[in-house]
Amino acid sequence: MYAALFLVFSLFSACTPEGRSSARSELALGTLCRIELFGGGKPELYGRLFSRLYEIERMMSVNLADSEVSRINRAAGIAPVPVSPELFTVLERAVYFAEASDGAFDPTVGPLVGLWGIGGDNPKVPDREEIEAALALVNWKELELSGPAVDETSAVDGAETGGHVSATAFLRRRGMALDLGAIAKGFAADELVKLLREAGTKSAVIDLGGNIYVYGTRPPPRSFLSGFKKTKWRVGIQNPLDDRGAYAGYLELDETSVVTSGVYERFFTENGKRYHHILDTRTGFPVENGLLAVTITAPSSMDADALSTAVFALGREKGGVLAAANGAGAVFMFEDKTIHTSSADFTLTDTGYRLVEF
Ligand code: ADP
Ligand code: MG
Repeated sequence: MYAALFLVFSLFSACTPEGRSSARSELALGTLCRIELFGGGKPELYGRLFSRLYEIERMMSVNLADSEVSRINRAAGIAPVPVSPELFTVLERAVYFAEASDGAFDPTVGPLVGLWGIGGDNPKVPDREEIEAALALVNWKELELSGPAVDETSAVDGAETGGHVSATAFLRRRGMALDLGAIAKGFAADELVKLLREAGTKSAVIDLGGNIYVYGTRPPPRSFLSGFKKTKWRVGIQNPLDDRGAYAGYLELDETSVVTSGVYERFFTENGKRYHHILDTRTGFPVENGLLAVTITAPSSMDADALSTAVFALGREKGGVLAAANGAGAVFMFEDKTIHTSSADFTLTDTGYRLVEF
């Protein structure tokens, strides 16, 4: 499913009310990634953007045997592994959110994710002993990161790298495993934004499997009636209980990232019960706290991604505090069909839901 070989490729040019735009979609990072450029996106730019996604996939995917993350996992309990500056950045941020969420978000959740197999071909409810065994291997405090250093005293040893000693990552015990499924797509979106800035792109929408970045200013509708006043981006929020594409409401925003974690993204059903993919690092089971989805807005997509998972796992009270402490907006959607948000940017459109402000 992860193979970069089969690409879903769609390139089209359209004259929308918002001016000329083109978009391209390809499978990367285990999901459908769509990039839409306004004002006529050049093919070389799409090429550069998607190449960057595949580069990041080769560093961070657990589904590629030769990725840096897979190498760290194989060397668990054995030896530290050199890591790229990119992976080091993501691991450091992951550890920050692990600490800030008191382990509700944990990048060493790999053994548990592997056990459940949600999103794979054979998901199943594991038995007690299996869960206990996997849980015993989940602990972000046993991920050792050592930063890059310029070692002036051993210029000979480090000759190949000009005296530069690379960063390393080490999982202390055998069987431990990293899983960056809750943060890597956010990092990737931020990297694409850097490339767009370099290219001088004015407006774009990046959507990496629901990890969204609305970049630049939304092109104004081309109409003399509406004038050319600045318009905000509108990002629909999926109704978790309805078909894909059915929105419960929308956010109106300037440039920012919008990331949702929900029970409907990846799940399987066994004996009539739904098991989704955000795991409770205390029980080893999917988080059950009455939430259907959490949407986070933040300037950093990496932060928004990690926060969406962390805030979902922590629930309304603690999660709300964590989001606010990190300068992020949050929209909570509950099974009882209430939506809690502090965001003035949110507009409810589905009257089946009730809005609760906090
Ligand atoms: P999505 O992958 O749909 O964007 P998330 O960002 O919420 O959703 O990430 C969920 C993924 O993160 C899971 O598929 C799994 O790989 C991983 N994961 C599950 N539970 C946790 C957790 N408690 N902490 C960190 N990562 C987790
Ligand atoms: Mg996430």
